[in-house]
Amino acid sequence: MENLIILGSGCAGLTAAIYAARANLSPLVLEGVQPGGQLTTTSEVENFPGFPEGVDGYDLTSRMRQQAERFGARFEFAEVKEARLDEDVKTLVCEGKTLECRALIIATGASPRLLGVPGEKALWGGNGVSSCATCDGAFYRGKEVVVIGGGDSAAEEALFLTHFASKVTLIHRRGELRASPIMAKRVVEHPKVAVAWFSTVNEMLAGEDGKARAVVLRDVRDDSLRELPCSGIFLAIGHVPNTKPFAAYLDLDGEGYFVPQPGSNVRTKVPGVFVAGDCADPHYRQAITAAGMGCQAAIEAERYTSTL
Ligand SMILES: Cc1cc2nc3c(=O)[nH]c(=O)nc-3n(C[C@H](O)[C@H](O)[C@H](O)COP(=O)(O)OP(=O)(O)OC[C@H]3O[C@@H](n4cnc5c(N)ncnc54)[C@H](O)[C@@H]3O)c2cc1C
Repeated sequence: MENLIILGSGCAGLTAAIYAARANLSPLVLEGVQPGGQLTTTSEVENFPGFPEGVDGYDLTSRMRQQAERFGARFEFAEVKEARLDEDVKTLVCEGKTLECRALIIATGASPRLLGVPGEKALWGGNGVSSCATCDGAFYRGKEVVVIGGGDSAAEEALFLTHFASKVTLIHRRGELRASPIMAKRVVEHPKVAVAWFSTVNEMLAGEDGKARAVVLRDVRDDSLRELPCSGIFLAIGHVPNTKPFAAYLDLDGEGYFVPQPGSNVRTKVPGVFVAGDCADPHYRQAITAAGMGCQAAIEAERYTSTL
């Protein structure tokens, strides 16, 4: 029986591991299929405090892991497929083994939805395709970028990008935006924003340097194709929170994000089960906010286990 199991080894899980290990809880971290989490897919993180020159995402999470190990956190490469959370002892089913714990921190993240078109994979994470304007917008100063999507997040990303880009083209498959009327108005009236209506992206093209140079747009009305030059391609078509194995026991919102108890960022309705990071945060989705929630969850877990 483990005292505390932490699910996920992104910024939230690793920060929780540092705090819990320093509090002598000897946490076991189940890393899932992406050790280090989403940040390992980007080469340049410029907004994590303490790194004035920026830091490689993989290096940052490796350092967090070393810091947690230094205080006694243990790591296993395992993914939880099923969970039973309705008893004092929580049970986690992974391939080939079943684990039990007194307290559990779920920090399983949220995966950005991708389009799945040719060229996207090669350009993802540092070569021009991004799902986060807050993270990557500043890399596109004076350049032309596109945003794919038509909802409020797409509108927000497009407006944010106007602070840096020379031109932002919003690509939307319909003839009007799904975004709220006020956001839609701001977007279509912004002098730096153009909208490619009735358009979908068929392919993403790289230049000789391996970086994004254009998208191929298909007009859904007549299937005609055209190239739109751009250096940055921002996907704003949603995220999928990794919360499925726990859905029967914890509150989720309409998109599948964990909904913490009122008055707390990280407590759930099941005593001893805490959530942290992007899996419980549809709004900010940043490394530093995930780390902050990981810290909160570990402090809560320490308080919970000390009452047992
Ligand atoms: C390309 C890219 C660039 C980014 N750049 C920046 C940036 O510059 N600055 C910034 O602040 N943010 C950036 N972000 C966002 C940042 O990466 C996330 O906000 C942050 O990683 C969230 O941390 P997390 O720990 O909540 O989740 P994640 O990093 O998503 O980690 C989730 C962890 O859970 C594990 N897991 C999932 N399911 C299971 C399961 N069933 N069982 C066990 N483990 C499981 C995974 O293996 C993974 O280790 C970027 C994101 C991307 C994709």
